[in-house]
Amino acid sequence: MEQLKEKIRREGIVLSDKVLKVDAFLNHQIDPRLMQQIGEEFARRFRDEGVTKIVTIEASGIAPAVMAGLELGVPVIFARKHQSLTLTDHLLTASVYSFTKQVESTIAISTHHLSANDRVLIIDDFLANGKAAKGLIALVQQAGASVAGLGIVIEKSFQAGRQELEAQGFRIESLARVRSLEGGQVQFVD
Ligand code: 5GP
Repeated sequence: MEQLKEKIRREGIVLSDKVLKVDAFLNHQIDPRLMQQIGEEFARRFRDEGVTKIVTIEASGIAPAVMAGLELGVPVIFARKHQSLTLTDHLLTASVYSFTKQVESTIAISTHHLSANDRVLIIDDFLANGKAAKGLIALVQQAGASVAGLGIVIEKSFQAGRQELEAQGFRIESLARVRSLEGGQVQFVD
């Protein structure tokens, strides 16, 4: 997606050979117009998949997921990373190792919002080693629902996530694929 790649080139900050900071438009300040275009693009790619729900993870997956949900006309559920007083029982849970925070945490979704009849599009901001995606897949599968595919805003193709998820048979659509961050430069796959 050219607008996204241009935004990354102009406003992304390479923090190390492995980490890209996009706080200017996705992870802290949010560019609503770009999020709308991202939502349209995910909807275009998954329109024929019979998606009934979108599942993402707080906080940075929510903006692109909501825009995709708006376009596809389906509800959006975000997995919570922190315990909530109002989310106490009937939980689907999975353990996820955070790439950026380097801690293991439990993510949770209420059983009330997913059923075995659902076909789920999973959306997240980044794909690195695939831990967050695998946690979300585990939640969807615990509900007996099926995974239509994964929509990723920025994939770092030099990490193992795509390879591992594709080996398990999942369809992955990434809107920007980063081949390398070496030397402080963002290089895209195509
Ligand atoms: P994974 O679970 O695939 O290893 O990493 C994906 C998760 O870690 C995403 O939910 C995202 O929040 C975070 N993440 C991974 N790599 C980056 C990165 O380069 N920059 C930022 N801002 N977040 C990242």
